[in-house]
Amino acid sequence: MKNLRQDLQQREQQGLYRNRMLLQGPQGREIILNGQKVLNFCSNDYLGLANHPELTTAFIEATQHYGVGSGSAHLVNGHTKAHHALEEELADFCGYPRALLFSTGYMANLGIAQSLLSKGDTMIEDRLNHASLIDAASISHAHLMRYLHKDYDSLRKKLMRCESGEKLVSSDAVFSMDGDEADIASMINHCQAHDALLMLDDAHGFGVLGKDGRGSLSHQHIASSDVPIYMATLGKSLGTAGAFIAGSEELIEYLIQTARCYIYTTAMPAAIAAASSTSLKLLKQENWRQQALHKNIDYFKLLAAQAELNLLKSNTAIQPVMIGDTKTAADISQQLLNKGLHVAAIRPPTVPENTARLRVTLRADHSRQDIEQLVEALSQKESVN
Ligand SMILES: *Cc1c(COP(=O)(O)O)cnc(C)c1O
Repeated sequence: MKNLRQDLQQREQQGLYRNRMLLQGPQGREIILNGQKVLNFCSNDYLGLANHPELTTAFIEATQHYGVGSGSAHLVNGHTKAHHALEEELADFCGYPRALLFSTGYMANLGIAQSLLSKGDTMIEDRLNHASLIDAASISHAHLMRYLHKDYDSLRKKLMRCESGEKLVSSDAVFSMDGDEADIASMINHCQAHDALLMLDDAHGFGVLGKDGRGSLSHQHIASSDVPIYMATLGKSLGTAGAFIAGSEELIEYLIQTARCYIYTTAMPAAIAAASSTSLKLLKQENWRQQALHKNIDYFKLLAAQAELNLLKSNTAIQPVMIGDTKTAADISQQLLNKGLHVAAIRPPTVPENTARLRVTLRADHSRQDIEQLVEALSQKESVN
């Protein structure tokens, strides 16, 4: 039996111990964490919708109509009109024939791989893909190959090494810990040339990039018909919870028949679906939030460059400040917190060794002053270390 206590002690010594802080109240620009009011620079609620009054109202009204729990899986009798309407709205918004809801993005990624692949097949992934895509390969029993980050020649070489079986190429569209974007056109070219299926995970692009937040495909001017499998989550910029996969009629029907993460789990509450429909409506009607977010991203990058912070190349809401050493990153994060600024330190194994970073995420409702305060605190920290 593994010595749990020893393992925990080692983690603590290495600065890898993870603690949960208590959030008292809703997500927002300002939050109350462990009793302290802090500026929030680490949620994925980029547009500030998680606590939007219209979403709350939609949620409450749907709860009054459907109750709280959905009571069963989608295939038994948990699939309500609210779920069905959201699927149709998502498919329409993203430009696909169909969409299918999953209770979480993690499960959607496991579901697609398990459904489409088996032993003898290969899943080819960017080295920096989200953990759920890596785990998806193991649940599918397919062979996992990883290519160098955004190195599409490395992808091509991996594709050439697959002699038999199905090939599924998958990538984050916006990388969750780096904030940079996959070059989708290159991926499409290589996949088409090697008869591989392409899947994109747009958890961090959907809602914030492209026309009215239609996501990375719209942003990079890609036709949805060139990306057979599109996945995005609802828990980030849409401010609710859950995820969906969009694709062809056949893909979605096949997932309904075979994806175990879809079949053997309770449907998300109908109220979550109803609130998500309201988010989608707000995206279409009020695109000032995306504009405000992008202004904030630009302002942060400008100030950070002036302060000579070590940023990665990112044009998205995820703006990591590279630190390197794990313990230093954790210490700086704590010092920032003491000053009322909450920025998460991201450490191995979430990111590669020696690439610990402060993962700054921006929101539409940050003020210029918030950003100034952050950059000032960050530049003081960097000169100390
Ligand atoms: C957050 C995230 C997921 C998982 O989505 P959940 O709904 O939180 O389970 C999957 N992929 C990426 C890239 C993510 O950032």
